[in-house]
Amino acid sequence: ATRTGQAPREVTTHCPYCALQCGMTLRQEEDRISVLPRDFPTNRGGLCQKGWTSAELLDHPDRLTTPLLRDPATGRLQPASWDAALDRIATGLGEVQRRHGRDAVAVFGGGGLTNEKAYALGKFARVALRTRHIDYNGRFCMSSAAAAGMRAFGVDRGLPFPLADLGRADTLLLVGANPAETMPPLVRWLTEQRQRGGTLIVVDPRATATARQADLHLQPLPGTDLAVANALLHIALTEGYVDGSYVATRTSGFTDVLRTVAGWWPARAEALSGVPVADLEATARALGTAERAIVLTARGAEQHAKGVDTVTAFVNLALALGLPGRPGSGYGCLTGQGNGQGGREHGQKADQLPGYRKIDDPEARAHVAEVWGVPAHELPGAGVPAYQLLDSLGTTHGPRALLVFGSNPVVSAPRATRIESRLRDLDLLVVADFLLSETAALADVVLPTAQWAEEDGTMTNLEGRVLRRRALRPPPTGVRTDLAILADLTTRLAVKGRVPSYRLVHSKGPLLTSKPGAAAGERPAADPQAVFEELRRASAGGLADYAGISWDRIDETDGVFWPCPRSDEPDSPRLFADRFATPDGLARFHPVEHRPAAEEICPEYPLHFTTGRVLAQYQSGTQTRRVAALRRAAPEAFVELHPDLAGRLGVADGEPVRVVSRRGEFRAPARLSPAIRPDTVFAPFHWAGAARANSVTNDAVDPISGMPEFKICAVRLEKAAQD
Ligand code: SF4
Repeated sequence: ATRTGQAPREVTTHCPYCALQCGMTLRQEEDRISVLPRDFPTNRGGLCQKGWTSAELLDHPDRLTTPLLRDPATGRLQPASWDAALDRIATGLGEVQRRHGRDAVAVFGGGGLTNEKAYALGKFARVALRTRHIDYNGRFCMSSAAAAGMRAFGVDRGLPFPLADLGRADTLLLVGANPAETMPPLVRWLTEQRQRGGTLIVVDPRATATARQADLHLQPLPGTDLAVANALLHIALTEGYVDGSYVATRTSGFTDVLRTVAGWWPARAEALSGVPVADLEATARALGTAERAIVLTARGAEQHAKGVDTVTAFVNLALALGLPGRPGSGYGCLTGQGNGQGGREHGQKADQLPGYRKIDDPEARAHVAEVWGVPAHELPGAGVPAYQLLDSLGTTHGPRALLVFGSNPVVSAPRATRIESRLRDLDLLVVADFLLSETAALADVVLPTAQWAEEDGTMTNLEGRVLRRRALRPPPTGVRTDLAILADLTTRLAVKGRVPSYRLVHSKGPLLTSKPGAAAGERPAADPQAVFEELRRASAGGLADYAGISWDRIDETDGVFWPCPRSDEPDSPRLFADRFATPDGLARFHPVEHRPAAEEICPEYPLHFTTGRVLAQYQSGTQTRRVAALRRAAPEAFVELHPDLAGRLGVADGEPVRVVSRRGEFRAPARLSPAIRPDTVFAPFHWAGAARANSVTNDAVDPISGMPEFKICAVRLEKAAQD
């Protein structure tokens, strides 16, 4: 017992940040909340600095505890009651839709929202608002890998095997991934892999903390990974590493790929990428002769206007070597955001319904509409991908009102200056967040939301493992959960006659009723478990089938892997052992060809620019920039450049520089490092204002996934005046 005689309270839960979803215990004694690491399969008791400090934001002085409304007279955000804020939203949405049609309202979600919230948000958009415009920031995260996985394997699950398999691989190829900084506890698997005598090969234009641990580091010019992959397959063919029997019995389309990779002889790939032929050959040999080999991609390979094709080239390589579905082998993608995997399965993507169903599939529409209790023909069709949506806001052809949950596009979107001005052009911008993010600061209405330790729910980690997030305490006075906000808004919209028969949850459990008349004084309770129960039914029969997963079942285990159609049958930690999720059970090869970056260097913009993350910050930095220890560890943005380039430009270490592209500029101190190629500069994207790296990034998008080209554009570097 504590000093006051109150028993300490503890819950087992998971870190609020990245897709590793490290296990942790939260403990409350008096007013003090501490984080204790927990032995869980993904982190084995390890936590990174972000996880250790994650409780600091729960009682942070910057935390929002009352709704804010923009005062038309002063233009400032002012505290308001929940009734006033929600009425303003319901009235505003009604006005916009009356004047401009249903699609004039859009919803923007996030890859950090729980499964329950992602599901409820998709349903809210399609049924309460009846708009086709919903998408989310996961489009900026791993949509290219998702699309490549779908077309090759018929399903998209980041890792189709448990993380622990990494430790048993004889050869591990990491492409554009830097887990030593983005997911440090994952490094234990890399260490184990090398201690068992395995070979680690990293492909990255920078000698990152991960690349420095590798047996072999390939350092290609940004934007040439696809050519590297095709050359590796070319070598595998000529050196006899291709698994002919696997290709014949488990795949289709290899002949077309043969023709493409025939042209990628190693010397040609070296001339384009700068990776020596000997290193390409050593990589192909290490993969081709290994008993167990794994190929992993992450944002470095994926965030390109040819991201889907780049990932496909590595999938082709893995298939030709016979890896997917073989024990301890395969292809996988390291998802980034906390619920990057679950966030894209339950219907907050523009073209999808729950269960990872296509929104234009009549059977899928009929199933989901039945669960939702609405006629299928009333469900809207597909919307547009995130960047296209954001770039159309406030224009003559785009939505006039936007609701944002769990995202901060002012910092995280490409060509962010333009997106910021689009948000300013809206008739109504609503942001639900627990801090005044840069996007919330532009809003007409800001709704203060609960944090991860204040509500129950589930997350699906990078392995497709569904986990339980547990509440340590209720939200503080004045704060509501996202689900409660959606339920309340639903009620108000119903009262205004817009959605007379709609309920946020259709289940036999506690209902979130929205019966007309319920708004006056009666606030519907939003029960995440009831939402999950409905999600199970909506997902049943889909690719991401959660029908056999219950909160109780998760509580009894270390999480449950989807697909899991039945509660009395085992879940699916490993996929593809016998067949792929395609109609004929065969994986598909797709021939893919290198093409230049959407924007190439020129005399005016002579340098390649690429972005990424640092250890002590997370995503747009709204949260981690406010945590004292993380701020001390990574206090400001920087521009990393090679000493040779710095010498040519006359730039000293620490001196402020300006990075300028055709779309904008930002400034930050120079950080000289031999870890980067002399023709490339790097900056992290966690900072806002004058240091916002996304002010310069390119908004060219992949034609299949809609992924913007964050990882390469053309810039020039200038010395900036000292502050
Ligand atoms: Fe949290 Fe990811 Fe760090 Fe684990 S690695 S503690 S999940 S931020």
